[in-house]
Amino acid sequence: MPFDIDVHERAVYREPAPIDRDDPFQSMMERFDVAAEILELNPGFYEYLCRPSRMHITSVPVEMDTGQIMVYEGYRVIHNDVLGPSKGGIRFAPDVTLNEVKALAAWMTWKCALLGLPFGGAKGGIVCNPEQMSAKELERLTRRYTADLFDVFGPDKDIPAPDMNTNEQIMAWVLDTYSMHARRTENAVVTGKPVGLGGSEGRQEATGRGVMTVTLAAMERLDLAPSDCTVAVQGFGNVGATAAELLAAQGCTVVAVSDITGGYYNEKGLDINELRNYTQKNGGTLDGSPNADRITNEELLTLDVDVLVPAAKEDQIDAEIAEGTGARIIVEGANGPTLPEADEVLQEKDVLVIPDILANAGGVTVSYFEWVQDRQGFFWTEERVNRRLDRTMREAFEKVYETAEEHDVSLRIGAYVMGVRKVAEALRMRGIYA
Ligand code: NAD
Repeated sequence: MPFDIDVHERAVYREPAPIDRDDPFQSMMERFDVAAEILELNPGFYEYLCRPSRMHITSVPVEMDTGQIMVYEGYRVIHNDVLGPSKGGIRFAPDVTLNEVKALAAWMTWKCALLGLPFGGAKGGIVCNPEQMSAKELERLTRRYTADLFDVFGPDKDIPAPDMNTNEQIMAWVLDTYSMHARRTENAVVTGKPVGLGGSEGRQEATGRGVMTVTLAAMERLDLAPSDCTVAVQGFGNVGATAAELLAAQGCTVVAVSDITGGYYNEKGLDINELRNYTQKNGGTLDGSPNADRITNEELLTLDVDVLVPAAKEDQIDAEIAEGTGARIIVEGANGPTLPEADEVLQEKDVLVIPDILANAGGVTVSYFEWVQDRQGFFWTEERVNRRLDRTMREAFEKVYETAEEHDVSLRIGAYVMGVRKVAEALRMRGIYA
């Protein structure tokens, strides 16, 4: 329950505001509130940590290929930088909102803290429809947004990365634009860039690899052998396709995958390599995939499988889907795929949910490795990157599991408790600058 602060620094409970289920920031706050109560968080710290430190809104003018000038709204939210420079992706989407970016920035704070990374949390977004823009228009949009935020970004200040609909090329334009203004090449200002510009080996697959590592750790806890487990994956992009491929390589039977065009099911198991090759030749989608029956995305989410990996987008698992799901383990590859109301149902059903801030932290972990390599000017082999990633993810899983057991809460709340505690401790040690 949220606090108000009175003049004597005493917590006074106030009635929680009605929850808007479509607002990811409120979803984040619901979980944060539970963690804050368990930690008996100082009310002043509560007030500080439930707000972003800084929010930047910029109008980004772009000359389109036709000569017309369009103006796009861009955001960069720094949720918190108590532990170090803030870190978080940039999302291009027609429906991105400031509240969504605020939530994603806060999730980055808790994620970096619980993984033990020396970063705070941030996120960026531009309201645009990248599918309807040419490469040159996207380049002009990215460069102008970066120039507008030149004073915000920096290897010691705020370090962007790819997110939904942004990629290595866009990160290369961020690097170049920032470097031109800084009058020197500054490759540590952005992560998720091409290896030829100081990107890290293993970064592309890192989030999917982290999903695989924590899935195997959860199977061990439940005494399940990978070769006995069936898996369904929602979303066949960077995270979903990599997770499906790596879990299949571990002996799991991936019976269903899906993307924006719908779901594809084969009870004997799908050939993930074949599907990846198919999507490359098929404009990036699974539409018409061979050797599979068509199912809907909803049917995929309620399949009777051992492991369900939602790896598409937010708000996919509501209470009804949670009632219907046959999964024993849910591994949140996507950010915010499960609504708070579904958490309760899943907990009652004894489904082990590995929360997003842990399950998909492989990406930011290798982003951290990339930043370290850039700053040292010394680059690691892919084998070294993967080994360190596996170790970091497994240790984080075990610590979250133990924290959840200690407080008799879900892994999600355990993860929030760990993340919020780490940030609050740093805040206490630093003190409040007056
Ligand atoms: P992506 O764009 O590469 O892939 C998204 C996939 O989801 C595509 O296959 C798309 O067709 C599918 N999809 C979209 N809407 C869908 C729907 N309604 N139903 C089913 N499928 C749908 O994106 P990504 O990088 O794989 O990211 C996926 C999720 O993982 C996002 O929530 C993102 O924030 C999160 N995430 C990504 C990374 C990363 O390193 N890429 C890191 C952490 C978290």
